[in-house]
Formats: sequence, structure tokens, C-alpha cells
Amino acid sequence: MRKLFFANWKMYLSDEEADALARAYAEGALSASVDVAVAPGFTALERVSRALAASKVALGAQDAFWKDEGAFTGEVAPKQLAALGVKYVIVGHSERRAMGETDETVARKAAAVAADGMTPVVCVGELKEEREAGRQEEVVRAQLAAVLAALPKGAAFVVAYEPRWAIGTGTPCEPADVAAMHAAIRSIVGADAPILYGGSVDPKNFKPYLALQDVDGLLVGGASARPDDVRAFFEAFAS
Ligand code: PEP
Repeated sequence: MRKLFFANWKMYLSDEEADALARAYAEGALSASVDVAVAPGFTALERVSRALAASKVALGAQDAFWKDEGAFTGEVAPKQLAALGVKYVIVGHSERRAMGETDETVARKAAAVAADGMTPVVCVGELKEEREAGRQEEVVRAQLAAVLAALPKGAAFVVAYEPRWAIGTGTPCEPADVAAMHAAIRSIVGADAPILYGGSVDPKNFKPYLALQDVDGLLVGGASARPDDVRAFFEAFAS
């Protein structure tokens, strides 16, 4: 199975910048040895969707609500994302969990995304103090259990292991610790669900992660939105 490079552009780029970077991704993906997906901000989705049309790059979104219609001011429906050609939707990103998202809301979102024919990218990961207390597997197991109970049987999903202390901090999780967590996640989700690692990955440090048996790809935030880093990633991925 080819590995997946999943870019989360967070709230970094103007729509014009997102459009230009999407074109660089489309070109880089032509000769890349990995599959590629990008999740721009909502306002850039339509433009990026056009920039990626006919390319090998899949379109992602950074979040979705758990209902497809109704009086939910400010929310974005999975159905609206599917209509734009979105294939993957991140749910439960740690930056959203930090703003109050719970295992229950993440599970509802994952189920709604799957019901509209897209693939949820379910983010799980422990806080620093939970790892220090040796509770990381327990925390991740509980986060996953909530989502697995809500997803329809047979629905496709991706898991992203993103320790919350590693995101955007410049301190990635040690590869040996990633390997241990991914093996634990694999024992729960089986062989069919890709498991990504995310947390302070950049063009200089990504290789040991991609070499791990149970790492099926990377979820990259900050570096995926910086044109120089993107160039460096695609140079490394050139097959
Ligand atoms: C992310 O946003 O999912 C992420 C992993 O961010 P960063 O690569 O910046 O740590």
C-alpha cells in the first residue's frame, strides 16, 4: 500500500496562496512515491478543488458538523463538503478538542462524514501529562472506541495518531514511541484502516516515521503550508 502524505493547512493561507500551493502539490504529486491529500481552510475549498481537478491530489476538509442541514449557524455540513469534491474530513483535531470538542462530538462527526460517502480522518492523541503518567494507550483507546461505536460497519476511515503535546511545538514524538502506539492502534482497527502519524513533522525529520511498519503516512500541519518545505518534501518523495 502506498503511504499517504496528508497536509493540514490549518488557518494559514489566503485563498490566493492556497490556490498557488495547491498547484505546486498537483505538480509534485505527479512524480511522488506517496499518495497526497490537502485540507485547506473552508473559504479556499472551492478554489483548491478547481486547482486540483485532474490531479492526483485528493481534497480534504479540516472539520464538519454532524448534521447535513438545519439551524446551525456557522457550521459546515458534510453534504456541502461532499458537493465540493471533498474526499477526506479531519475530525477531532487536537486544536478543536482543545476548544471543547469531546469524544462524543467527534464520533458524531465521523459518522456523519462517512454517511455522506467521505472518509473521516480521526485524530487521537494524549496530553503531555497523560503520557507522563503512562496513560497514553488508555486515552487513545477510549478516543477510538467512541468513534468505532458510532461508525457504520464497514465504513472507511483513517486514524491519525497526533500526540497533543507534539502538535505545532517543534517536538515530535520519538519514532519508537510512535511505533508502539501505532501497533496498539493496529490491534484495534485492523489492517484496512490507514494509521498516520502527525506532530511537528518536517522535511528533515519525516523519514524514520515513514519507515515504520504500522505508519501508513503522515499528517503534516505547519510544514505542509510552507512552500519551501513543500518543495523539500516533494524532492524527497520523487520516485
Ligand atoms: C496537525 O495540524 O495535524 C499537525 C500535525 O501540525 P504540525 O505538523 O504543525 O505539528
